[in-house]
Amino acid sequence: MKKLVAILLFGIATDDLKSQNFIQTYQDRVDALKFEDINSHLKEFEKLGVKTTGSEENDKALVWIKNKYLSFGYTEDQIMEDPFSVGRMKSKNLIITKKGTVYPDTYVIICGHFDNINGPGVNDNGSGTSIIMEAAKILKDVPTEYSIKFIHFSGEEQGLYGSKHYADEVVFQKKVRQLDIKMVFNLDQVGGKKGIFNDTVFCDEDQGGSSKNNAASTQATKELMACTTLYSPLKAKIDPAEHSDYISFEKKGEVITGFFEYLRSELPHTKDDTFANTDVRYVFNIGKATIGALQHFAGANKTSDIKETQKK
Ligand SMILES: [Zn+2]
Repeated sequence: MKKLVAILLFGIATDDLKSQNFIQTYQDRVDALKFEDINSHLKEFEKLGVKTTGSEENDKALVWIKNKYLSFGYTEDQIMEDPFSVGRMKSKNLIITKKGTVYPDTYVIICGHFDNINGPGVNDNGSGTSIIMEAAKILKDVPTEYSIKFIHFSGEEQGLYGSKHYADEVVFQKKVRQLDIKMVFNLDQVGGKKGIFNDTVFCDEDQGGSSKNNAASTQATKELMACTTLYSPLKAKIDPAEHSDYISFEKKGEVITGFFEYLRSELPHTKDDTFANTDVRYVFNIGKATIGALQHFAGANKTSDIKETQKK
């Protein structure tokens, strides 16, 4: 593992960081992210209680997320609820689609789960949930070459049920592919622990499962690391992708990458995974890296948004 990291870091230092150019317009949109917005989403997420899959709290959290998108100006026809059941347990994923300009039928998926267990899950995964919502808000009127699906999964903590349902029954139907997916970018547990110095984020690379999609994940993860250093103050390190919703897609052959906190908190899945114990500044910084990377992956317009803003 250590050897692999050294080789990959060397690779990035020598070519990819140079070949991936900084784009000022991307930075301008990254800078539109407000600390206060992340802060208030995390507080509200805590107030929604323990959002265990199948619970009333979980249903209410989905409505809370949906209302956020409506308040950002997304329309009902862009928002899809995706119900699934496992035994007696019923829940829903929420999918928001923004159409691309050049490849409208090819999707960049950015996803994270909103369900939790034992506690309010502000780090795991209110952090990813808040960032995905803010990325969608900031990029709403920005033309992107690829379509983007912002997906909030449920059922993750019990066994990736929501994402498995989506990958197996929506992306594929009767084993026939319905959706062309460029890549899947997952955010899970990016809240850090308050009181420790969080200046690094893990970029998750597909090192297992089917080997066919590993090289493409390696490339996507290199690009994610480059975007992290270009658009946020954070440092990036590689770790293996595992135990989160991207695995449901990996099993279907998709290209995956993602963020996970570098210094791992022991509080997720306990009652202490609270707002007070989460490093909001770290979530904010990962939000910056995310908005930079999502623009890169989706091919966001590189010219200034000033005209678009004036039109409003
Ligand atoms: Zn999680």
